[in-house]
Amino acid sequence: MSSTPAILIYGDPVLRRRADDVTAIDGNLVSLAEDMLTVMYGEPGIGLAATQVGVEKRLFVYDVGDGPKAVVNPTITERDGLWLYAEGCLSLPGLFWDVIRPKEVLLTGWDLNEQPIEVEADELLARLFQHELDHLDGVLLIDHLEAEQRERALGLFEAISTGAGTLMAAGEHSEHSEHRKHSERSERSKDSEHSKHREHSDG
Ligand SMILES: [Zn+2]
Repeated sequence: MSSTPAILIYGDPVLRRRADDVTAIDGNLVSLAEDMLTVMYGEPGIGLAATQVGVEKRLFVYDVGDGPKAVVNPTITERDGLWLYAEGCLSLPGLFWDVIRPKEVLLTGWDLNEQPIEVEADELLARLFQHELDHLDGVLLIDHLEAEQRERALGLFEAISTGAGTLMAAGEHSEHSEHRKHSERSERSKDSEHSKHREHSDG
């Protein structure tokens, strides 16, 4: 476990870089995916991009309740509808923001057995795919916020990071921290009350 990678937190420049295409699905990549899953399962998260553990390769892992999965060189080829969801990120821990994104996507890529995959995703899974793909492009959740909201978000994040605003921040999002350890990865909350009931980050 000592070699388990740590999750990079907002502010780390690697999170802003575009990850490189994977050129070979080999033992190293499989080990990386396994390590990433270990990290992800240790957190209240349902997805994790390689970028988040400092590896600039186009790979992400996820588990929305039906077992661990990995996607190599993912692409979203179709998008449809819009969906509002309180989205979180393990690189901005403890914070959630309402973000509207396409409700359905078609994801293509490769699995770790070098087989092509194609997944039609809706709602939570579609959100996860978009979130992880963003990571591989150096895009973060806060980039989807309005300027004013982003400023407030970063202030809150900074306050939490330094510990100065922990109480205030915890007051606003206390449900998350209290229930983190009871996180149900497959749980999804309803639109109107999602902020109060969110228990996991998208990745
Ligand atoms: Zn994330």
